[in-house]
Amino acid sequence: PERRNVLGVGIHPLTLSGAVELIGSWINSGSPVTRQVVTLNPEMLYRAQSDPALRDLLNGADLVVPDGHGIVWAGRRLGCPFPERVAGIDLISSLAERGARQGWRFYLLGAKPGVAAAAAENLCRSYPGLAIAGAEHGYFRKDELARVLAGIRAARPDLLLVGLGSPRQEFFIWAHRRELGVPVAIGVGGSFDVISG
Ligand code: UDP
Repeated sequence: PERRNVLGVGIHPLTLSGAVELIGSWINSGSPVTRQVVTLNPEMLYRAQSDPALRDLLNGADLVVPDGHGIVWAGRRLGCPFPERVAGIDLISSLAERGARQGWRFYLLGAKPGVAAAAAENLCRSYPGLAIAGAEHGYFRKDELARVLAGIRAARPDLLLVGLGSPRQEFFIWAHRRELGVPVAIGVGGSFDVISG
């Protein structure tokens, strides 16, 4: 679907299930360059007003969904309505539900040591059969970056969830999209903290 411009950022008017459908088609097509999914919250949209690099990234990302009632509201006011808010945590749940049935392998990167692994465990409990390709914390040093990237590549996941906080996670995915070796990556903010708790 065509993007709708809100304050200079093109946002896709998709429902949660529409987004899952599209992401699933990307996983099955196995693109060599990672497709980037952004759940756009109002803070990020605000920040993009004064950060052209972030705005360009958002407009270059493959899928941007509105993760905020304010954005959905603004869309309606601007005459370009979005069907619903698509929150990161709901997107993770729906993808896990679908992924457990389709055999998608998830890799979780981010949050404090142990949190991503605990979140993975909880997801597996909620969605039996879900496959976890790996989990890694998000407090690696610059000189550990190559190891982190190699770990992701070696695990060959279908879906990479990156919870480094926004917009850091968005820049991470964008910068490494040609070397991650994963068809789809999504920035998920503090979701691992929520799911692990
Ligand atoms: N985080 C990380 N590495 C860092 C800084 C933050 O993995 O160097 C994690 C942090 O532990 C938390 C998430 O990124 O799990 C940020 O969550 P927050 O709710 O602050 O971010 P937002 O949801 O607003 O993007």
